[in-house]
Amino acid sequence: MYDIIIVGAGPAGLTAALYALRANKTVLVFEAKAYGGQILNANLVENYPGIPNISGFDYATNLYKQVKDHGGQIKFETVTNVSEDKTVTTNKDTYQAKAVILATGAENRKLNLEGESDLVGKGISYCATCDGNFYKNKTVAVNGGGNTALEDALYLSNIAKKVYLIHRRDNFRGEGKYLKDLKAKNNVEFVLKSNVVKLYGKEKLESIDVSDSEENITNIKVDGLFIAVGQEPKNEMFKNVVDLNEYGYIESSDDVHTKTKGIYVAGDARIKFLRQLTTAVSDGSIAATTAIKEMEK
Ligand code: NAP
Repeated sequence: MYDIIIVGAGPAGLTAALYALRANKTVLVFEAKAYGGQILNANLVENYPGIPNISGFDYATNLYKQVKDHGGQIKFETVTNVSEDKTVTTNKDTYQAKAVILATGAENRKLNLEGESDLVGKGISYCATCDGNFYKNKTVAVNGGGNTALEDALYLSNIAKKVYLIHRRDNFRGEGKYLKDLKAKNNVEFVLKSNVVKLYGKEKLESIDVSDSEENITNIKVDGLFIAVGQEPKNEMFKNVVDLNEYGYIESSDDVHTKTKGIYVAGDARIKFLRQLTTAVSDGSIAATTAIKEMEK
């Protein structure tokens, strides 16, 4: 029996673990992939208060070490079910806790184009920081208009020969600062009001078709396509214990309660206004503190 089981070792889950451990609670964290979550994809974080700049990887590793140094236990197992009595089932075993914190984040949205999944690692990537180095002096495209796409395009412009930034509108969600820096680059070409509609290549990506708002199709030869069109949550397996909105995010109160007593949600998996590192760690600290307070009542 653990005091608190946390599902997900991203910034929200690891922060919840840190707060619970410092309150002398027994904690078990489950992670299906790698610790760090989405922040691993940020090559440089410059908006975390008090830390002027740090890579996403270094931030995640520091936090992971901090949790381990406090005696945190992290198991790399995939959670498949959480029940109302706080039984947590994974692909390997069944565990029991007094409280459960869901911090499953969200995963990269796909374009759902034919061949997309087959070409992952052969020209298609969802992580410029991870794969950018394979494209030294090559031609790449980035698809998306949020901070991830802008950051990826900037990062790649220092590695690749040419970067196309393809976005479906002519306004960007991403910050003006990134946009200004991108416009100053002479190897970045903006392809706006356009969508990637077809991928060519079997063994590796060779080119893409891009359709503009008038449905004119242009074929662009690229060695790599970095897809950065946002994230989607993965909370379907919890719908017996939480309410989900139409996009699959979990409903919760300000103190991150779900509809089930003893089950809390932290980070990008929640319905919230701003999904950032700052709000993820904020949720994690609130989730652990709320769980502890209620456990001790
Ligand atoms: P995002 O802000 O949700 O942006 C997704 C982008 O993809 C939007 O421009 C959207 O277009 C476009 N898009 C969505 N679905 C599409 C589709 N099917 N086909 C084509 N385009 C599509 O996602 P994000 O950039 O991954 O950022 C997620 C969160 O993390 C944000 O809050 C962001 O600020 C934060 N973040 C912060 C940093 C940092 O602070 N260093 C770095 C990265 C990310 P529309 O605009 O037309 O909807």
